[in-house]
Amino acid sequence: MTTNITDPVFHDEEKAREFLEAQRWPNGPVCPFCKEHKNVVRLGGEAAKKGLVLCRPCRKKFSVTVGTVMERSHIPLTKWLMGFRLMAASKKGISAHQMHRMMGITYKTAWFLNHRIREAMGLPVSAGPIGGEGKIVEADETFVGGKAKNVHKGKPAPKKHPVVALIERDGEMRVKHVANVTSKTFRETLFKNANRKSILMTDDSTWSRQAGKQFAQHETVKHSLGEYVSQGGISHIQTAESFFSLMKRGIMGSFHSVSEAHLQRYADEFAFRWNHRQVDDETRANEIIKATAGKRLTYRPTDEIPH
Ligand SMILES: [Zn+2]
Repeated sequence: MTTNITDPVFHDEEKAREFLEAQRWPNGPVCPFCKEHKNVVRLGGEAAKKGLVLCRPCRKKFSVTVGTVMERSHIPLTKWLMGFRLMAASKKGISAHQMHRMMGITYKTAWFLNHRIREAMGLPVSAGPIGGEGKIVEADETFVGGKAKNVHKGKPAPKKHPVVALIERDGEMRVKHVANVTSKTFRETLFKNANRKSILMTDDSTWSRQAGKQFAQHETVKHSLGEYVSQGGISHIQTAESFFSLMKRGIMGSFHSVSEAHLQRYADEFAFRWNHRQVDDETRANEIIKATAGKRLTYRPTDEIPH
């Protein structure tokens, strides 16, 4: 996608549709219901304006948005494209308030756009554990939220939410908001998301010492002794720490606060940009478009919109 926000795809609905189709269907329309791609015909007249295609084998009509997070949305495709572009390029994330101000859409529309794009940026169901034989996986935990200085007098301190990050050195990452701070929860998250043949790198906390025994090899960084990088620079968890630092700055700067219900989605958004960090903003935006397919919406339009 273009870097230039004056590009017609951000202003001309027909151009936006053509662009989306080129991304999702590089070899022509594919029926989202039965996967047919040969015996499909574009409809004429009014239906053509909606980009409707008829699948002859299953007799169903579809457009490029069917089967994606864009389905049944009344938001123009030009705005979706702008949304993908902004979310792909904003290192620290972009709030619904900012999208509302920048894109000439209501706050409510911006909020839905923001959350649906984030849904697309979530891990695909097919995503397996990271790491493997001879691979280094860094694991670390942090807490999001609950800044004491923001507490009003007489109100209880806001809750801190534990988040675990697992990063394969020079590879992909997984980040998980976990329900509680127990060794058991952390261990289970680790086992589910990292291959146990990996070389695990953690700090020297109790939970990671126990979990480490299940991995092919376990190296620890003794934060308590002020040892941050050891063994010739291999044993460290600085990749995980720098990810957390970026995510926390982003969440505090752009969003002020994040409700527990949405924290995993925000974490996924930051992980998506991390996992696609080696490509430029345009390519990353196109990767989001490709990821819009097959994502389930886990909230309904009737859900409360925070301000
Ligand atoms: Zn079909």
